[in-house]
Amino acid sequence: MNMTTLFDLFERLTSLMRIWHREHPLLADLQPVQLSALEYLARCNHYSDTPLAVTDYLGLTKGTVSQSLKALEAKGLIEKRQDLQDKRSVHLDLTPAARELLATVTPPAFLAQALAEMGPNAAALEALLGELLRTVQRQVDVPGFGLCKTCRFHQQRDGEPFCGLTREPLGRPSIELICREHQPCEDAA
Ligand code: SF4
Repeated sequence: MNMTTLFDLFERLTSLMRIWHREHPLLADLQPVQLSALEYLARCNHYSDTPLAVTDYLGLTKGTVSQSLKALEAKGLIEKRQDLQDKRSVHLDLTPAARELLATVTPPAFLAQALAEMGPNAAALEALLGELLRTVQRQVDVPGFGLCKTCRFHQQRDGEPFCGLTREPLGRPSIELICREHQPCEDAA
């Protein structure tokens, strides 16, 4: 497979995602960037649920993301919560309505059906795409946003997860979430 073919495949799959979004009846009132913000907030940890982190993750301008977050708040899909330690900092929480929406629409049915038909190849593909993403992140200066349990700062203290960067204990579920401070283990040497 040459690079053009791989690029073409990503382009085509992205087009299919756009079509899925445009035609889904439950997503009629939601712009693609708004859905992406919701999906990110559903997957990120408590260090990464700020407007700035959403902006960095999506790679869009502050203005665009700010407008999208305002729209999501007006639709009752996210709520702002002031940080207890830093009163200038704001966290963004999904509302139950947003969680219900995401659980209903994602993953896209066409994708889930195709992966089910691929059988074991689907897991292999997921692993290879993960490797591709990690390689790109290593080679190009882009924010990490990796899975907490794969971070070089991830530790165990008294049998419980602990963040070596913030020096704070981590809830067990949070190790399966993505973090804007993530650094891959390869950088530890
Ligand atoms: S261990 Fe790494 S990924 Fe996990 S919270 Fe700490 S900095 Fe973030």
